[in-house]
Amino acid sequence: MDLRFSTEDETFRDEVRTFLEDSLARDFAAVRGRGGPGDDDCLFEERLAWERHLGAHGWTCVAWPKEHGGRGLSLHRQVVYFEEYARARAPGRIGHIGETLLGPTLISFGTDEQRDRFLPGILAGTELWCQGYSEPGAGSDLANIQTRADLVDGEWSIEGQKVWTSQAHWADWCFVLARTNRGAAKHKGISYLLVPMRQDGVDIRPIHQVTGDSEFNEVFFSGARTDAANVVGEVDGGWRVAMGTLAFERGASTLGENLMFLNEWDEVVAAARANGRIHDATIRQRLVDCWVRLRLMRLNAMRIMSSTHEAPPAAMVTKLFWATLHRDLGELAMDVLGAEATLRTGTFPDGSPDFSRLQRLFLFSRSDTIYAGTNQIQRNIIGERALGLPKDPS
Ligand SMILES: Cc1cc2nc3c(=O)[nH]c(=O)nc-3n(C[C@H](O)[C@H](O)[C@H](O)COP(=O)(O)OP(=O)(O)OC[C@H]3O[C@@H](n4cnc5c(N)ncnc54)[C@H](O)[C@@H]3O)c2cc1C
Repeated sequence: MDLRFSTEDETFRDEVRTFLEDSLARDFAAVRGRGGPGDDDCLFEERLAWERHLGAHGWTCVAWPKEHGGRGLSLHRQVVYFEEYARARAPGRIGHIGETLLGPTLISFGTDEQRDRFLPGILAGTELWCQGYSEPGAGSDLANIQTRADLVDGEWSIEGQKVWTSQAHWADWCFVLARTNRGAAKHKGISYLLVPMRQDGVDIRPIHQVTGDSEFNEVFFSGARTDAANVVGEVDGGWRVAMGTLAFERGASTLGENLMFLNEWDEVVAAARANGRIHDATIRQRLVDCWVRLRLMRLNAMRIMSSTHEAPPAAMVTKLFWATLHRDLGELAMDVLGAEATLRTGTFPDGSPDFSRLQRLFLFSRSDTIYAGTNQIQRNIIGERALGLPKDPS
């Protein structure tokens, strides 16, 4: 695959850039640079309006096939789109769970009725989704889920608890892994259910984070209901669908993420220049080290995209690599700030003290090495699947 951009790609780049600049310069100036990991609890109404603005102009779900309402963009164009989105510092998307996880899952595993019912709301930004996988006893060992669902009067009745459910407090719907056959082996007897969140049997309790925000939640299901037809794939065959969803977790957007990290690196350098620590040899070495790793992240993403192999071994290092790099960048930001890092130097719109962007970078990037597969689990995957080492004894 040739990764140079064609003249047509560059014309497309102009189109994306013009749309984003026009929109963000006028009605949506307040959301510029806001939202996303570590800042996702802010300006909900404004960002919902942004989501719908993108939807109305056909700029959500750009990777989805045209027959399902997307733009069917080639990988090159997706890269251009995500790069321009990051460059414009457009806001963190509140519809990303529906767009990147549930939508592609329904396109691959859903029925025509499910696609007709649920895809339009994701495209238009009128229905938000959350992911109900993790439980107190099921994280890395996801097949250990205990939430159960039984058919009662033509509906699934759900009992159990999920945890770390990002955006559950906004979501209209949740895709829930539930045990529907208790006699079956661990990875069997699980179904993938689509459950409405706004009903009596769903109790959402925010988890307060070190940043003071609450971006994720505990979710308790006590007799929550959903229609019998709201199961994706086979009843008891949800494990295959659940793994399919996880496979969609990262694609061309890695390059956009790379640019966001580069923006943060620029801010760390600016802070080091401002307080003179740029002259400290150790700080300089660590800045260069992060910059080199940012370049490697980009090159590896391009290598994966240009591979004809469906699951190139290089893809297995992606999550471990960027998560560790981002966490190190957060730690470097604190060392650059020195004693100032211990003070709240940012301000909320009402003037009260808030963490600065670099402090938020440090605090939130601690979680990068946990979600979407912990570093230890990633090392197991690399060891077993890429290097052919003996399996984890557990
Ligand atoms: C910011 C954030 C957002 C999240 N959003 C969601 C969401 O929206 N929906 C959702 O369902 N979940 C979500 N999660 C949960 C996330 O998927 C889990 O935290 C993750 O899978 C790890 O599970 P756990 O927290 O139960 O840790 P555990 O699995 O209990 O792991 C604890 C420690 O043991 C280590 N460990 C476990 N097993 C092994 C092994 N076999 N070999 C070596 N080490 C091992 C782990 O690496 C870790 O260090 C989110 C988490 C975070 C941090």
